[in-house]
Amino acid sequence: MINKKTILVVEDEEDLRDIIIYNLEREGYKTVGVETGEQGLEQAIALKPDLIILDLMLPGMSGMDVCRHIRQNTNTQVIPVIMVSAKGEEIDIVSGLELGADDYVTKPFSPRILLARVRSVFRRSKQVEVVDVSPLKIEGLTIDTKKYQLSIDDDPIDLTKSEFGILHFLASHRGWVFTRYQIVDAIRGDKYVVTERAIDVQIAGLRKKLGIHADLIETVRGVGYRFKE
Ligand code: CA
Repeated sequence: MINKKTILVVEDEEDLRDIIIYNLEREGYKTVGVETGEQGLEQAIALKPDLIILDLMLPGMSGMDVCRHIRQNTNTQVIPVIMVSAKGEEIDIVSGLELGADDYVTKPFSPRILLARVRSVFRRSKQVEVVDVSPLKIEGLTIDTKKYQLSIDDDPIDLTKSEFGILHFLASHRGWVFTRYQIVDAIRGDKYVVTERAIDVQIAGLRKKLGIHADLIETVRGVGYRFKE
């Protein structure tokens, strides 16, 4: 097969690395496995893989540092990263997403979950290239960026500028998890300032106005928010 996607797997636990690689290759991906952060960074630069699966807890250079370096290097900064973390390391997930990781899985995970995340990251990186200004239509919602207007079943709904900004940002990245800080960063306009704490208030207000569609905005415990996929 030509144009096989290459995935770099950075994981120090040999058994887990083998399982990940086995499953990726069975799906038709080309893989390169390494066990340390230093090797991971080296291969990221040398190979420029299409995706990196990065364990956070590594001997030597941590996954977090690898992620930071990948995002700082102009040769690697656009490569999608899926972080692998042990359960309960919520704070690490938050920091990882803020460092620019695209998604995460927590251990233990099934190969099926990982493959779904991989496919979803590849789908998104394709979507990002398209700049689309036409209104977003999701279930009964119409989000019109040109008019700064939300309608539910054709009834216009009054939103504040921040509420609209948050809704549009989340809805245009369906299924992505964002931390409060990332949301603040994304909607920071020139005339209004939003704090992280205020995001919770804005989301609460937004859900109220969404009525029966309120559950489209999901809370990801310990991490942030996401628009239902
Ligand atoms: Ca590890």
